[in-house]
Amino acid sequence: MRYFSTRGGMEPIGFCDAVIVGLAPDGGLIVPESVPEVTGQLQQWSALPYPELAFQIIRLFADIPDLDIDPLIKTSYENFDDPVIAPVRKVSNLHILELFHGPTLSFKDIALQLLGNLFEYVLSERDERLNILAATSGDTGSAAIEGVRGRERISIFVMHPKGGISPLQERQMTTVTDDNVFNIAVAGSFDDCQEIMKGIFADTEYKRRFSLGSVNSVNWARIVAQIVYYFHAYFRVRASTGCDRIQFAVPTGNFGDILAGYYASMMGLPIHKLILGTNENDILARFFNTGEYRRGQVANTLSPAMDIQVASNFERYLYYKLGQDSAAVTAAMRDFAAGQPISIPLDGNGTVDKIISAARVDRAGTLATINSIHQETGYVLDPHTAVGVQVANALADDSCPVVSVATAHPAKFSDAIIEAIGEEVIHPDLEKLKGRETRCYELPPQQSAVKNFIEGHTAPHSRLCR
Ligand SMILES: *Cc1c(COP(=O)(O)O)cnc(C)c1O
Repeated sequence: MRYFSTRGGMEPIGFCDAVIVGLAPDGGLIVPESVPEVTGQLQQWSALPYPELAFQIIRLFADIPDLDIDPLIKTSYENFDDPVIAPVRKVSNLHILELFHGPTLSFKDIALQLLGNLFEYVLSERDERLNILAATSGDTGSAAIEGVRGRERISIFVMHPKGGISPLQERQMTTVTDDNVFNIAVAGSFDDCQEIMKGIFADTEYKRRFSLGSVNSVNWARIVAQIVYYFHAYFRVRASTGCDRIQFAVPTGNFGDILAGYYASMMGLPIHKLILGTNENDILARFFNTGEYRRGQVANTLSPAMDIQVASNFERYLYYKLGQDSAAVTAAMRDFAAGQPISIPLDGNGTVDKIISAARVDRAGTLATINSIHQETGYVLDPHTAVGVQVANALADDSCPVVSVATAHPAKFSDAIIEAIGEEVIHPDLEKLKGRETRCYELPPQQSAVKNFIEGHTAPHSRLCR
């Protein structure tokens, strides 16, 4: 499979290069030249355990020999705490797809465990090293750290705003004391961290000299890894209900999770509807209802992993929506960067997309959903998942089952849970972190300070790529 940029300004590259570069050099996102059609395989795949299904799907996108990629996939899901990896729980009349059984208890582990293994594989094939730089306000940092801790060819530098993330999320990162992991508490805001990161990545000379790479949600390998659970859940729910069309409700921020469902549908998986839920940061809910993609102000909410204004994976969707016309994508993204909205004409039914529908859920709605599901069933939804369940209630039709994607374990967001149900939910892995040794470096909010830090903590013998 060859890969192109949504903006058309990149010579085709292979999967391994796509994994390492993350973003196309012309600023576009990396997309496959075609999407494989798998309708003929659905029957054969329907009973495969998760890692084997993952192998069948990922091999269609990756130019890595089967004998090499198979063990990479198996080890990626070995330290999940549920043997099914991504079980679908029947909770009263809901189907909850639990994606939080990885080491950091959020759905990001599904992709970042694999990404760590893919990095290591490609780097050792090429005898290269990589320094990963990331900025996090929550779930991404810990999942990225768990994906690459202890690896020989990779160092990871993760910035978080000092005092600006929950103590629990801070502990999940700073208790990892492997030699290749550097937690940096920046004395500033999350925006400062992101500014620093953008600035450093824009310095191409520095980026090359220190072999800088990223793990952010636009990395194509993350999307591929996420396609798998749509198939896996579809097969399980089809087997238990006898229905051969399924709808999915997906709490959404950067549009990575639901985009994987969109690809699954393009591949031929019979997805009836993708129901997108946002919190008060509702740029996507507004877009799918009006056709206008217009930036707003970022608000802090109960579901912080979805507190974004610009959805980093949206450009991939736009690319398909605009008929894979790179010139049109480039023009739209240029106008958007200049402060203008992007407008998509509505179809005959007055909608943007025939399978995606969307709504926003506010703070009160989130708390009420957690509370009522708990009252009725005893099951506790995390605040992100609650957004999905609430939009499923509002927008699903009753022609077929709806699966609500559960993106985090509720114990990760205990303040919201206490507010919603008046009691705490505990997870033993999180309790174990309390009192454990931590390591973290504090730096001022300056690009130069972070650059110097990376320079001082990169192995002197490292071979540089490219
Ligand atoms: C990252 C995250 C999301 C949002 O997923 P996107 O792919 O950015 O849309 C939702 N819930 C949780 C818990 C997350 O960590």
